[in-house]
Amino acid sequence: MKYFRALTAVVLAGAMTLSLAACGGSTDTAESADTSAEAEATDEASDDTEAVVTTVEEGQFIWGTNASFPPYESIDNNEVVGIDADIAAELGARLGLEAVVENMEFDAIIPAVTSGKIDVGIAGMTVNEERLVNVNFSTPYVEAGQVIVVPEGSDITSVEDLNGKIIGVQRGTTGDDYVSDAENGIEAAEIQRFSSAVETGQALLSNKIEVIVIDNQPAKSIVNANEGLEILPEPLTSEQYAICVSKDNEALLDAINAALADMEADGTLQAILDEYLVED
Ligand code: GLN
Repeated sequence: MKYFRALTAVVLAGAMTLSLAACGGSTDTAESADTSAEAEATDEASDDTEAVVTTVEEGQFIWGTNASFPPYESIDNNEVVGIDADIAAELGARLGLEAVVENMEFDAIIPAVTSGKIDVGIAGMTVNEERLVNVNFSTPYVEAGQVIVVPEGSDITSVEDLNGKIIGVQRGTTGDDYVSDAENGIEAAEIQRFSSAVETGQALLSNKIEVIVIDNQPAKSIVNANEGLEILPEPLTSEQYAICVSKDNEALLDAINAALADMEADGTLQAILDEYLVED
């Protein structure tokens, strides 16, 4: 179960300062989220009150995702469900905002955040330096990593065997980065890029590709839902997922971090992870 633990230490460290900050202000996050001209004016007038949280649409917390990445997000009965959907709903409730989802291509999420179309990206999104140039990230809420998925009995048994193979990845993801980065020394015959985890899995099942490199939990969902596939035991990377927020909205980032810290402290975050994470 170690792999599935939320990042307790990291999140709790943030909780100390952030929840104190939340208690110190005369307006709490829920009230702050419900902005009025008057509240804003009051807030600007005094330095010791908490910053007012503004969002793209008043009263809403619009989160972007690519709902084809189980167990973090997938579509069930026309609804986006999964870990990130539950986290978004919980954050919305704690911020006094209605969580509204926008389903899009994974590589459209950061541009949607930076251009102010959506408030945040919650999409099993790995924190990395390249993305930090464009967006801020919340404290991480879970650990993950890239793994190799092959048909059972494949001659690929380790990362060295990826040379000369047709590899499938999700476009614009850290799996794509890993196999594309010359530093990792993978000399693929070809890299095919798909727009979702589910499509990548389908391409492997139909033998369009020989192997996929993908996040560990979606890999488990694909392997569990289909006969004849297996995950190689050695993960290729160690990553952390967090929520991306516009660099122009520090108040929202702070409110999210405070709410995440509370969700860690009261067990809500771990309960959400435990409900969905697929064990080995
Ligand atoms: N964790 C990977 C990334 O951030 C994949 C995320 C996804 O496809 N939803 O790039």
